[in-house]
Amino acid sequence: MIDELLTALDFAAERHKTQRRKDPAQTPYINHVIEVATILARHGVIDRTALLAAILHDTIEDTETTPAELAERFGPEVRDVVLEVTDDKSLSKAERKRLQVQHAPSLSHAARLVKLGDKISNLRYVAHHPPASWSAERRREYLDWTEQVIAGLRGAHPALEARYDEVLRQAREVVG
Ligand code: NDP
Ligand code: ZN
Repeated sequence: MIDELLTALDFAAERHKTQRRKDPAQTPYINHVIEVATILARHGVIDRTALLAAILHDTIEDTETTPAELAERFGPEVRDVVLEVTDDKSLSKAERKRLQVQHAPSLSHAARLVKLGDKISNLRYVAHHPPASWSAERRREYLDWTEQVIAGLRGAHPALEARYDEVLRQAREVVG
């Protein structure tokens, strides 16, 4: 499995190679991908599909990668989980946010794990490395929205959910 995980990491690094996060330091995008997969692994997730989907979770949404390509390289299960956590970019940001809350209860187990890791990573960014233009109000709105998404998928993995709760608490302390 280590071979597959490194192959996925190599693939994601190539696809995201020109992209940066939105923090002032413009952290390479791949750091977020590595963080999401690491969060899952540190909380005992050993499921192949979940770990591969964590590494690949933003490739369809944010790069030219197609679902067919993921299926061919990593199999249809991984493709399906990545699709579950992929927003439809033809919709407005507000609509995409509403749909994430609405769809959370129908996500598969593996997609819930990826979603938890993604939100934990993003809470850490919003607390410690937010985009320079974000006001405290906007940061608070973001924290509140992730809480609504996570409320819809609870029961999936108590340890990851406890970690999410802790990171949310810390983020609220920082943001005020
Ligand atoms: P964005 O969707 O533009 O940015 C958040 C997303 O960007 C994250 O979910 C994450 O997604 C990615 N990201 C990359 N780097 C960072 C980083 N350093 N910190 C945080 N996120 C990062 O913004 P919003 O989520 O705020 O969506 C726009 C919404 O905000 C609209 O619905 C609008 O209503 C509202 N808004 C509020 C304003 C206010 O002042 N209150 C002002 C303007 C808009 P990923 O992990 O998928 O890459
Ligand atoms: Zn992400």
